[in-house]
Amino acid sequence: MNINRNFDNLIENYLFAEVADRTEKYAAAHPDKKIIRMGIGDVTLPLAPVVVEAMKNAADEMGHIDTFKGYPSYEGYAFLREAISGYYASFGVSVSPDEIFVNDGAKSDCGNIGDIFSSDCTVLVTDPVYPVYVDTNIMSGRKIVYAPSTKENGFCAMPDKNVHADIIYLCSPNNPTGAAYSADQLKIWIDYALENDAVILYDAAYEAFISDDLPRSIFAVEGARKCAIEFCSLSKTAGFTGMRCGYTVIPKELERDGHNIGKLWYRRQSSKFNGVSYPVQRAAEAVFSPEGQHQTKANIEYYKRNAAVITETMENLGISYTGGKNSPYIWITCPNNMGSWEFFDFLLEKANVVATPGEGFGSCGKGCMRFTSFADHESTIEAMERIKKVVAELA
Ligand code: PLP
Repeated sequence: MNINRNFDNLIENYLFAEVADRTEKYAAAHPDKKIIRMGIGDVTLPLAPVVVEAMKNAADEMGHIDTFKGYPSYEGYAFLREAISGYYASFGVSVSPDEIFVNDGAKSDCGNIGDIFSSDCTVLVTDPVYPVYVDTNIMSGRKIVYAPSTKENGFCAMPDKNVHADIIYLCSPNNPTGAAYSADQLKIWIDYALENDAVILYDAAYEAFISDDLPRSIFAVEGARKCAIEFCSLSKTAGFTGMRCGYTVIPKELERDGHNIGKLWYRRQSSKFNGVSYPVQRAAEAVFSPEGQHQTKANIEYYKRNAAVITETMENLGISYTGGKNSPYIWITCPNNMGSWEFFDFLLEKANVVATPGEGFGSCGKGCMRFTSFADHESTIEAMERIKKVVAELA
């Protein structure tokens, strides 16, 4: 037998292993130093009380014969899909419950969606990129083309009319750059997708961090229902990284190659996926209740206060950055033309602060560094005080 040889084409990503390795070596050699980690990509605050209560109640229901639930439906319980539909309506976007597919997180569907497209499709990703889009498509043998996100375009890559793509991954607010597309920019992508008969796979995992007047969903922009699928997640919205729940939205009218995309996706899900557990779906429903929104937004505000501390520091130091305002990520251009790894070592050794070197997310990340706002507030302030001192000494 032969294995899937496309796996040979995967590029080993040593980024996080290398970050951990350098950090551990430094910590072992300097046990007296307090290292502050600003590279964390996971949430740190606990679940909202109303969410925990809903999950406990659902667990009780599972223990009684009258309220016990077996397999959930493939697309998710109606109560959750209705709650998600109501959430979209709260920011002016109309998505009906039967266009929503509940899942165990956005990562799964961002990769799994490839099952319904041919392996000869060309995939466009922006560079730097969330690696899941690249790796899952390499596994399927698809050709990948890159649209550069650079300082010049504000880290919002735009389409090149001379390049054809069938599948387009966009992530806004972006991981890793923190940049977010405006409605006008998304309209340009939508027009490009329609011209190419392409489908946009829109990852809105960080939409809850948007505070400026920017689209929270691609479906807020005209034409998107004819060319886009949206992925969203409760991971960063409501601290669900350990709970596992997200959702995919496929407009009913989305068709390609004579097929209805929503129907194909339902067919795929019913063959390979048995749904999300009842207690988790009840917990997710609680996120969208008025109390749930109030409590989860308080956590997001906490992270955003951290982000503000980081962006103020970069402004004081004259370091250019994107993100922070509509995103938990702050993407900086390393000072003194330092390379990503050079600045990583500098921060580790001089300030005992760990961030993530940008070049690990793609070649356009060279000379950049990603900070996250998920550390605790006091550590964030201390890390920025240290950085102010050591970077000022560079000048
Ligand atoms: N999409 C982006 C851009 C992410 O950064 C992440 C997680 O870091 C995900 C999707 C995955 O989300 P989930 O936890 O819902 O699988």
